[in-house]
Amino acid sequence: MLKLWNTESRTREAFGPISDDEVRMYSCGPTVYMRAHIGNLRGYVIWDILKRLLKADGYQVTHAMNITDVGHLTDDADEGEDKMIKSAREQGKTAWDIAKEYEELFKQDAQNLNIILPEPPLLCRATDHIAEQIKLVQDLEEKGYTYTTSDGIYFDTAKFPEYGKLSGQPLEEKLAGARVEASSEKKNGTDFALWKFSYPNGLSREDYLASNSDLRASDLPERAMEWPSPWGLGFPGWHAECSAMSKKYLGQPFDIHTGGVDHIPVHHENEIAQSVCAYGVPLANFWLHNEFLTVDGHKMSKSLGNTYTLEDLNSHNIEPLALRYFYLGAHYRQKLNFTWESAAAAQNALNKLRSLVREWDAPTEINLEYDDRFMAEIMDDINTASALGVLWELVNDNSLETPVKAATLKRWNTILGLGLGEYIGKPLEIPANVRAIADRRWEARSNKDWDTADALRLELENLGWLMEDSDSNYKLKLKK
Ligand code: AMP
Ligand code: ZN
Repeated sequence: MLKLWNTESRTREAFGPISDDEVRMYSCGPTVYMRAHIGNLRGYVIWDILKRLLKADGYQVTHAMNITDVGHLTDDADEGEDKMIKSAREQGKTAWDIAKEYEELFKQDAQNLNIILPEPPLLCRATDHIAEQIKLVQDLEEKGYTYTTSDGIYFDTAKFPEYGKLSGQPLEEKLAGARVEASSEKKNGTDFALWKFSYPNGLSREDYLASNSDLRASDLPERAMEWPSPWGLGFPGWHAECSAMSKKYLGQPFDIHTGGVDHIPVHHENEIAQSVCAYGVPLANFWLHNEFLTVDGHKMSKSLGNTYTLEDLNSHNIEPLALRYFYLGAHYRQKLNFTWESAAAAQNALNKLRSLVREWDAPTEINLEYDDRFMAEIMDDINTASALGVLWELVNDNSLETPVKAATLKRWNTILGLGLGEYIGKPLEIPANVRAIADRRWEARSNKDWDTADALRLELENLGWLMEDSDSNYKLKLKK
């Protein structure tokens, strides 16, 4: 029985889907204005494990994830510069180029981490769904939840009494806590943009310039991403895409909604407000949130300058799959602190697992006792850390035959996605020249010709191999 911690109810609930054998799940995806750092990637790995787990439990999983390629402003209050446009300006490219480049890199990173991304159309771009977002705003407008300011169409959170439920704050408290800047035309600090105007009052660039004689065209940058709408030229507010696309691809309500903990107080409250007010039913039944990856106790984030990418890890000889193993070492609702030492330890552990399973014989039947224990841990709110503990017990259990270990681990690997399947029972292939040198060294050693033996050991090392001697035999290992 799968149990999941539901942020909304603040309890661990038994999971059951809306329809019998299908689970519909939505994950807030990346904003593609920079390369994802390994903090961003933590959530995508854990939700990948959840998806694999649901499949192993017999469900068909329909998983949608958005690619935010537009209109995500630098702060939650709909103020500041658009991240995509800022990045484009800094790199001398267009916003479209930036989005394309980083979407591609995100897909590569996901593949290297063994994350099974949804296939298009379920992997859906905000810019491909402008019409759906406009429709959502129109539906909200018709029902009286919106108001217009000089810079866009806003959602009036005071009209939605349930606003704040996800974060556990009553509406009055939420409203009182969010200050309205003096310059803002927002009615409440928690109100948010559904549609932003490119130029004041939804004017076209020409009309705006014509209405402002002191403004020169050269002082007014053109937006690379903007669309006509019933309210004038502009672009969607950044929460609209998730409500519009999840409805389109999963229906409403759907089963599971995932994201980082930072999404709870604003982004997800706003998604809920939009979707519930527009369509009159809940958005999702289960809300799951992953904690942050930290460095020296601080959130890994671009603004603190403490981010690393998979490329940085690669230059420290840490593989993406070792990072995946590292993530699994902590429960997803706990902060996880990144250090190079712990990353190296994860790489060593993965290497050790690989070399152990190479020696095993081909899988036969699984050990049900171990399997029950592993599944109980992973089904307990995705407790990957305890599941890994069971895995190591199995690996080190000398009372089990290796084909049984192999079968059991293979099944678990479909959930953990550590890529171990390809190593099970596949002895390391030793090139003929390496084998020949090793044989010569073994002979020299047997003849107590230590100089020759040492020279040949060095030769092997230069080829990337280590030779380990026992009394009667030798073993070759790849140098790390
Ligand atoms: P963004 O691209 O900024 O929208 O972030 C993408 C996802 O990464 C969001 O779900 C954030 O919650 C998440 N995120 C950002 N920083 C971290 C971090 N240090 N650890 C874990 N998740 C993070
Ligand atoms: Zn979202």
